[in-house]
Amino acid sequence: MKPCLRSTSLVIAVCALGVHAASGAQDEASRRGMAHDIFKQLIEINTTDSIGSTTVAAQAMARRLLDAGFAAADVTVLGPNERKGNMVARYRGKSGSKLRPMLIIGHLDVVEARREDWSTDPFQFVEQDGYYYGRGTQDMKDSDAIAVANFIRLKREGFVPDRDIILALTADEEGGTSNGVSWLLAHHRDLVDAEFALNPDSGGVVTDHGKAITVEFEATEKLYADYQLLATNPGGHSSLPRPDNAIYHVAAALTALQKFEFPFELNAVTREYFAQMAPIESAERSADLRAILKTPPDLAAAERLSRDPRYNSTMRTTCVATMLSGGHAFNALPQRAEGNVNCRIFPGHSQEEIRLELVRLFADRELSVRYRSDSGELSDHGSDRMAMTPPPLREDLMSSLHKVASSLWPGVPVLPIMETGASDSIYTMNAGIPTYGVNGVAIDRDDVRMHGKDERVKAESYYTGVEFYYRLLKSLTSASRH
Ligand SMILES: [Zn+2]
Repeated sequence: MKPCLRSTSLVIAVCALGVHAASGAQDEASRRGMAHDIFKQLIEINTTDSIGSTTVAAQAMARRLLDAGFAAADVTVLGPNERKGNMVARYRGKSGSKLRPMLIIGHLDVVEARREDWSTDPFQFVEQDGYYYGRGTQDMKDSDAIAVANFIRLKREGFVPDRDIILALTADEEGGTSNGVSWLLAHHRDLVDAEFALNPDSGGVVTDHGKAITVEFEATEKLYADYQLLATNPGGHSSLPRPDNAIYHVAAALTALQKFEFPFELNAVTREYFAQMAPIESAERSADLRAILKTPPDLAAAERLSRDPRYNSTMRTTCVATMLSGGHAFNALPQRAEGNVNCRIFPGHSQEEIRLELVRLFADRELSVRYRSDSGELSDHGSDRMAMTPPPLREDLMSSLHKVASSLWPGVPVLPIMETGASDSIYTMNAGIPTYGVNGVAIDRDDVRMHGKDERVKAESYYTGVEFYYRLLKSLTSASRH
């Protein structure tokens, strides 16, 4: 319990009653109440790209931090236009600290959700059967709320970290053209510059029927890329077919792609991941996992493991056909056919390198293979941007993570993973800020509903996730740790 000088309304009320040592249970209840209210507020602010606004959410979170005593100069809402605001807050560390800040990033925007597709209103925070329902309950307003709740809790407790902790809640991770992390790095680097970053958008506790199996954290991620395959042709009357048909060009290329596999690869992170998965997998898989870690790796074992899509995408670059269109009339030779190939590139390779690989594979001069940027622009040359090779696993982060994970989920392995999707970490990593995906919210492995209907999180998982970040932040920024 803090001295009665503190200005939070709760403490004042408790002090006025003369109940100096409020019970831990009461503290816990009020902390839960706060974490609940922040989460509910965020879910009920629509932050979709179509009609929502991240600015409204950013302002609401800024308001809460200011009310909790953060200085106005340390809490900012800013962005490229009025609908795509980002919030940046700085929790001041010990004055004179030589340590550079750490950064936490979290996206405020959510994927579209239609009322008619859902059992409940996706923009209402619905509490039912021990779950919280709503768009963003898994991805990732839970983590945004957790960060804000813990900033407030730590502040109220008078905690002073050994370095500044910066929190950036941002726009347009899921879509849109105003990615907040990218924009902040480009225009306000000083506000978010840090020695390293945590991004709770990835990683987390995987449970099976409520029982924790692994605590995963992201230590590297694949690079996203789209390529357009395009064949054009003068066309003509379909009663007079010719062999060079635009649709056949695209179809042949996609068939070649279907049979093609990028080579097996390992890096420091996936090596560690496979090594830790081996003892918890079935005997047969476990043997295969050990076999791929040998030098040279057993490629037959890799082949067997790659039948599992998750293992497959962790072992190599993958490219897959995702869209197809062509032709303009039932009775005309097609003048145009187009396909989209979506790739998830293994760290260490560039978008252009993979484009050239596809060109070689298709071996068809009539077919153009062009890189399609996030904003839809096509170019004959992919960017030389690479998925960054994994940053070193920081000793301070690893020891705090292991300590906190074992206090909450004793005996459960802590696994480094390579995210096969893509997150905002790509921007911070490319800006030279090593970024780790760390999250303490447990989701059952058969209950992953991100981007889907009836997105939900178990209420207890959420509160454990709040506690996880509280302990992690404290451990990671306490001088006593050193
Ligand atoms: Zn996300």
